[in-house]
Amino acid sequence: MIRAVYPGSFDPITNGHIYIAERAASLFDELLLAVLVNPEKNSTFSVEERQIMAREALIHLPNVTVKYFNGLLVNFMRQEQSRIIIRGLRALSDFEYEFQLAQMNRQLAPEIETFFIATDAKYSYLSSRGIKDAFRFGGTVRDMVPPGVYRRLRERIPPTNS
Ligand code: ADP
Repeated sequence: MIRAVYPGSFDPITNGHIYIAERAASLFDELLLAVLVNPEKNSTFSVEERQIMAREALIHLPNVTVKYFNGLLVNFMRQEQSRIIIRGLRALSDFEYEFQLAQMNRQLAPEIETFFIATDAKYSYLSSRGIKDAFRFGGTVRDMVPPGVYRRLRERIPPTNS
């Protein structure tokens, strides 16, 4: 039984994240989507809200569970008895950060492997931050996030007219 962990901020989960989760869920027996508790507490949505939105969005995938974690990812991986970290890659610009993170995690826990899944071209521009910024200034983001996220964005982020 192979369990993989897909960690991230998911603030909020987007269609790009869902695509990666779907592909990973089809490759491994279990996928655990792990929502990072932001130490700086500067996230738009609380860790509870981020988990609820992720659970709703991934309900069609029976082998996916959603949890949160604090602190070092490799400690969480060991606690959850998983040796596979899933990360999504959009463009070359993701690579440097992701590569550094993977190297750091390997130094900390050599038994853990990071797997990268390339996104679909139609999601290559999507990021949680981009969606929040576009939404704030009146952009149409309805097709970029699941319906539950869209509804909560409308409740959480007041429109700006400038
Ligand atoms: P972090 O805050 O750790 O960068 P995110 O929640 O933004 O995490 O993203 C988690 C993972 O999902 C990262 O590996 C990121 O590259 C990937 N990701 C984010 N958006 C997309 C997307 N549109 N397509 C594919 N992967 C994505």
